[in-house]
Amino acid sequence: MSGSVETLKATSNGLRGALPIQLAQPTPLFDDDVKNLLKFHGIYQQHDRDVRGRNNRVYSFMVRSRIPGGRLNAFQYLIHDALADAFGQHDLRLTTRQGIQLHGVIKENLKPTLRGLNETLISTLAACGDVARNVMFCPAPFGDPVREQIQAVAQAISDHLRPHTRAYHEIWLEDEEGNKVRQSLESAAQEAAATDTAATDTTAEIEPIYGKTYMPRKFKIALAFPGDNCTDIFSNDIGLVGLVAEDGETVHGYNLYVGGGLGQTHNAAETFPHLAEPLGYASHEQVLDVVEKIVLVQRDFGNREDRKLARMKYLVYNWGIEAFRAKVFEYLGYELEPVHPMPDMGYDDHMGWHEQRDGRWFCGIYVENGRVADAGATRIRSGLRAVIQKYKPNVTITGQQNIILSGFQAEERDAVDALLAEYNIAPIESLSRVRRHSMACPALPSCGLALAEAERYLPSLIDELEPIVAELGLDQEDFSIRMTGCPNGCARPYVADLGIVGRTLGKYNLHLGGNMEGTRLNTLYQELVPAAELPQLVRNVLTAYLATRTPQERVGDWASRLGAETIAQHVAQQTSVEHASADKSAPITA
Ligand code: SF4
Repeated sequence: MSGSVETLKATSNGLRGALPIQLAQPTPLFDDDVKNLLKFHGIYQQHDRDVRGRNNRVYSFMVRSRIPGGRLNAFQYLIHDALADAFGQHDLRLTTRQGIQLHGVIKENLKPTLRGLNETLISTLAACGDVARNVMFCPAPFGDPVREQIQAVAQAISDHLRPHTRAYHEIWLEDEEGNKVRQSLESAAQEAAATDTAATDTTAEIEPIYGKTYMPRKFKIALAFPGDNCTDIFSNDIGLVGLVAEDGETVHGYNLYVGGGLGQTHNAAETFPHLAEPLGYASHEQVLDVVEKIVLVQRDFGNREDRKLARMKYLVYNWGIEAFRAKVFEYLGYELEPVHPMPDMGYDDHMGWHEQRDGRWFCGIYVENGRVADAGATRIRSGLRAVIQKYKPNVTITGQQNIILSGFQAEERDAVDALLAEYNIAPIESLSRVRRHSMACPALPSCGLALAEAERYLPSLIDELEPIVAELGLDQEDFSIRMTGCPNGCARPYVADLGIVGRTLGKYNLHLGGNMEGTRLNTLYQELVPAAELPQLVRNVLTAYLATRTPQERVGDWASRLGAETIAQHVAQQTSVEHASADKSAPITA
């Protein structure tokens, strides 16, 4: 499989392959090779897995926008919303990497969808595939110069690592440049045929960073504001923290961390989640060069034999951070300083109202599992559309799949709240903390890799957990619950206080011991837990936490200190005590 993907990339002629030909064919789907190439264009071919039987499959496509730092203007958001009605399934999916996905687009509507996005300067190129994906940055639009400088670097990294192929424009947008490239390709092909040569490489453009085979695997980069890890930088191939000079207004450089990644495969011990390790400090002037050279090291030495082991975390782990660092320095031609001291990492989801530096205000709005849809009484899609159409705020997607609207005047706040209330969109203060800090990936029915439900199941699990958490008096505690439908980790479950990972339909692994700051991996507590038993299991764990925590100790910290075995002992003891007292109070029947 890996070999075939590498060959596919190498012979794709700059990500074209048979895509233009198959796009023109009146079939509802693409073959496997083109399906893989489509990912580089930000498109996943999917089928509705609720529909049983191979012959009954209904194919459609997920289209993912690349939005560095999640920042959009009002019109860019509204075009996504309009395209969801014109060509999608009437909803939007905000992603954990600050992108937006349109689901349910059929093949003949791919082109108008991408062209519609492009008219507002939104691209889907490199939102998926073996390239640097959407670059993340803290979404809080305070408008201070430090955040603006770091956002500018995020944008520069994104631009620098964008594939240079004109294939995207040529295939989807048919611009003048693309047509020129296509004509040159056609004439080269004709010449090759006329001279009866075996020449097939007609790539007219150059990929200076990626070369012909792009990256061994997807590559993720995130930047953080010092002290706020809302982008989970340690889960990325490269995580950067901007460091501020004494003037409080200037970013003098960045601490860089490398080799993070959360995906793993069930029952494959050679795969594992891994947090990024410290590489060094780069000045503001050096940072783009350093990021590029890290990418080149992974490009040249990453595993291209086995896609399961192709992420850069395995290179860093196998070489060790010292050897990896030395190779980066060799590519750079100079050495970096060790990472600088910085504030401890905190976490802020930026929900609710906050004042910006210019006196205006932004409002973070919770979107359950990132699904912007009208469902029952809560019409979040219509409500967001109404506010954005009326006030034209800037829009930022957060790494927790929520949305921030910014630039409101103070006197507009009440009217905005009233408008949101009309659509039954609850203010953040009215939500339970356990729901606010929960997150699930899309999983079934759209994701082809899902083994179990996630987005469709987590809300009802939270419904069951809310009274348990309240009854235990933990409703003012902040702890995260993240669920995925498979071990790939798209909702970053392995850094959550409680991570719930799908094993098979209706069964989950429960992991304990991460934290809100994303600085610690959790560990497996119990395998193959039936969904129906999850609420009681979480109740048992939280009861043991209450009984054995130290003052101010948080759930994940407690679980990490005790470890799975000790927690299981506490749970067993407390369960046997409960059974004994239940037996004593049971009426004696003859
Ligand atoms: Fe699909 Fe697995 Fe990612 Fe969920 S974690 S979206 S099931 S690949």
